[in-house]
Amino acid sequence: MRETQAYQSAAPGAPLALVAIQRRDLRPDDVAVRVTHCGVCHTDLHALHAQDAGAFPVVPGHEFVGEVAAVGSEVTTYAVGDPVAVGNIVDSCGVCPMCELGQENFCVEYPTLTYGGRDTIDGTVTSGGYSAEYVVRERFVYRRPAGLDPAAVAPLMCAGITVWEPLRRWGVGEGTTVGVVGLGGLGHLAVKLAHALGAKVTVFTTSPRKADDARALGADDVVVSTDEQDMARVAGSLELVIDTVSAAHDLGPYLAAVAMDGTLCSVGHLGPVTVETLALLIGRKRLSSSGSGGRPATQELLDFCGEHGITADVEVLPSRQVATALDRLERNDVRYRFVLDLADIG
Ligand code: NAP
Ligand code: ZN
Repeated sequence: MRETQAYQSAAPGAPLALVAIQRRDLRPDDVAVRVTHCGVCHTDLHALHAQDAGAFPVVPGHEFVGEVAAVGSEVTTYAVGDPVAVGNIVDSCGVCPMCELGQENFCVEYPTLTYGGRDTIDGTVTSGGYSAEYVVRERFVYRRPAGLDPAAVAPLMCAGITVWEPLRRWGVGEGTTVGVVGLGGLGHLAVKLAHALGAKVTVFTTSPRKADDARALGADDVVVSTDEQDMARVAGSLELVIDTVSAAHDLGPYLAAVAMDGTLCSVGHLGPVTVETLALLIGRKRLSSSGSGGRPATQELLDFCGEHGITADVEVLPSRQVATALDRLERNDVRYRFVLDLADIG
């Protein structure tokens, strides 16, 4: 086994503590990644707040970059020292129809998540990227573009790909009208990516103080979602609305903003929702969701970001300040993604 340092929560409500954990010895197709930067996703907060004691201990972190530290005997694509990135899926069955389509994120055997997932070979529970080292199958390692700030690339691996797949699936391009609900980690990348694809972007926010930032990120219009008149102004105008809000909320007002035959794609808060079917019927609207991305789309996103110079807007903190990052994220005090610099435990 390979011992490494990681931030772990032992039980529901327990703070993260720096502990030694064991990574598996390299299998022939494994890559060991020395983690340099790991993004702090709102999903990490959800995981740490979970009440199910059986889901602990938890080492969060599922969007990280680093360098290859060692490779297994059959690894052909990577060599020690290569700059790489890893997202929130680290394995899948590889043979089901979803995997064959390159949608490993929907693997019928369920993909192995970067933390809290179950390794398909030894059955152990995966520990995430708030850690000095991670061991991952070669297939789920991505080459990160040269020339981009590694810290600002890390959030592309969860926040970025989660909004990229729906943007691509729903054919966003020159002149498409796109709404983005919630200007946080996912939301600010949705704005940048939609804008770079040529879309006309409208941001819905509960935080009027973010309006100038939204425009600087590429938004053409900003709607304060708590203002009914402002919401009425954009009714029926958007071909795709991506909802990234992290808390349970009514989808009705955002469905109202969707144009005929348009789509509301809810990727933020997961859980049951109540929808008035008339709100779909009138205008033949679609309600959809999405999660993470497959391997081809993930590499496509990284390449697109490399070509267009797109990265997340990040606030980098030494990893020992992880509690501050989580606390401020919970209070919606982040512009627009915290990233942990793991050098202080490497
Ligand atoms: P985040 O950075 O905290 O951003 C969430 C944004 O939602 C906030 O900036 C805020 O934007 C808005 N918001 C928060 N609380 C709200 C409330 N009570 N009512 C209305 N708006 C509220 O979070 P994130 O990391 O982007 O993640 C967003 C959500 O996506 C989380 O629930 C996360 O678990 C989920 N997620 C899903 C996937 C997937 O695969 N589907 C992947 C990653 C994350 P404004 O201030 O602009 O209103
Ligand atoms: Zn995430």
